[in-house]
Amino acid sequence: MQFPEATIPEIDLLMEQAWKAFHQYRKLSLRQRATFMRAIATELENCGDELLFTAMRETNLPEARLRSERARTIFQLTSYAAACEEGAWLEARIDEANPAKTPPKPDIRKMLVPLGPVVVFGASNFPFAYSTAGGDTACAFAAGCPVIVKAHPAHAQTSELVGNAILAAAAKCNMPKGIFTHVHGAGIEVGKALVTHPHTKAVGFTGSFAGGKQLFDWGNQRAVPIPVFSEMGSINPVFLLPEKLEQSAPGLAKAYAGSITLGVGQFCTNPGLIIGIESPGLQQFIATLADEIKHIAPGTMLHPGIAKAFTEKRSTALAQEQVALVAESATAPAQNQGLPTVASASGQAFLDNPVLHQEVFGPYSIVIRCKDMAEMIAVATHTEGQLTATLMATDNDVRRHDELLEAVKNICGRIIMNGVPTGVEVCLSMQHGGPYPASTDSRFTSVGADGIKRFARPVAFQNWSNDLLPDELKDGNPLKIWRTVNNKPGLE
Ligand code: NAP
Repeated sequence: MQFPEATIPEIDLLMEQAWKAFHQYRKLSLRQRATFMRAIATELENCGDELLFTAMRETNLPEARLRSERARTIFQLTSYAAACEEGAWLEARIDEANPAKTPPKPDIRKMLVPLGPVVVFGASNFPFAYSTAGGDTACAFAAGCPVIVKAHPAHAQTSELVGNAILAAAAKCNMPKGIFTHVHGAGIEVGKALVTHPHTKAVGFTGSFAGGKQLFDWGNQRAVPIPVFSEMGSINPVFLLPEKLEQSAPGLAKAYAGSITLGVGQFCTNPGLIIGIESPGLQQFIATLADEIKHIAPGTMLHPGIAKAFTEKRSTALAQEQVALVAESATAPAQNQGLPTVASASGQAFLDNPVLHQEVFGPYSIVIRCKDMAEMIAVATHTEGQLTATLMATDNDVRRHDELLEAVKNICGRIIMNGVPTGVEVCLSMQHGGPYPASTDSRFTSVGADGIKRFARPVAFQNWSNDLLPDELKDGNPLKIWRTVNNKPGLE
């Protein structure tokens, strides 16, 4: 179904409405924001199977996956609503006055306040959890910001249904007009107009490096720059340490064949780079991985554009000198299907050729054969910022290879020990974001309630009378939120 693209005058009007809504919504209590978020969750549930079948038609994702992704999206909304009310994210700090000090110490109280209208761009591979009512939207509402979503053209109808669910919840909760707007636009013009509009105060993006970097540049080139939180691609390196490889190469290879091809490899945490040291264990790992990959059938990708990009990037990677094809699925791919593929290259080839560092979004991974631990450390050191890195290691491996561990910690947002990187738990301790180019600001996460802080800024109130202070900072803690008072954290 075709939807009309938003025009520039329409964008001006909706941004004006979002700006007005901001000045009303920011004054609502944490409880009112949370009630609105829970109402969105209920409306999503009420969308029933029509929403799932629409998403299945648009994305080729199977029903079970979409059902669990919707449940995850609902959980994001309700758990961030709970975090919003609980208030720890506000980082309330109170330092009481001390007139006896020379010079006298003033009363200073600080908390986070909302930034203003947030523009959200969702990714094609998560039509619910990282899209219209996904993590960025939930975090922005919790922070006190109106949201404008640019629908992903690959699932525009799904996005429209979810957008209507948010509007229904907004109406039921008497939210101000302009609290949420949903626009379409298949070219770059709509996105550019939204990011550069003077009333836009932040951007949340999940998608490709090219898209995320472009939006980040526009955000920074404005007369008044704004934060653009782009969560982009990643190749999620996996380091196979010597003792672990010696002990369990076939098991590791089987687990990784599954992780590389899970969901036709269309996860931002897909393991696209596997690094080991030349040894009989690595040979065994490669042989078993090859055998497994041959038996995994190609799957239909999200949309023809993603399938075309996969085919092109896979060909480019395989055409590099010193890159060898290890194995591909024995089943020929049909139209728009991704062919499971594993390649291999030496550690030196990886160090010399930046093309080997690039994400091939789909069921593709390259095994890097290092000549020794020093080369493995060099590979870790020369790998760009990543969402995740994984260590397959025994306790002895971990104790013996501290320098590698330090190099790995330096390049990623999450380090997985003896597991696979696919799968991102929604919880407060999650870090989803990493050093550039994995994301544009490695200090923040886009998953977990800490993501709310992206859309807020600190303000300190100096020498205010108790009556005039926001409730969050008043004496006696009327909202019973977690605060730090005179350097002591607690519920005081
Ligand atoms: P995408 O092509 O970058 O699209 C994402 C959104 O950004 C779309 O709405 C797209 O609209 C817009 N966009 C892209 N380039 C733009 C530009 N130059 N100007 C204005 N708008 C632009 O990404 P995708 O294909 O949906 O997703 C696949 C990628 O996302 C993979 O690289 C994957 O690793 C990454 N991803 C990352 C995460 C994470 O959490 N880090 C999660 C999921 C996926 P148009 O299509 O209209 O241009």
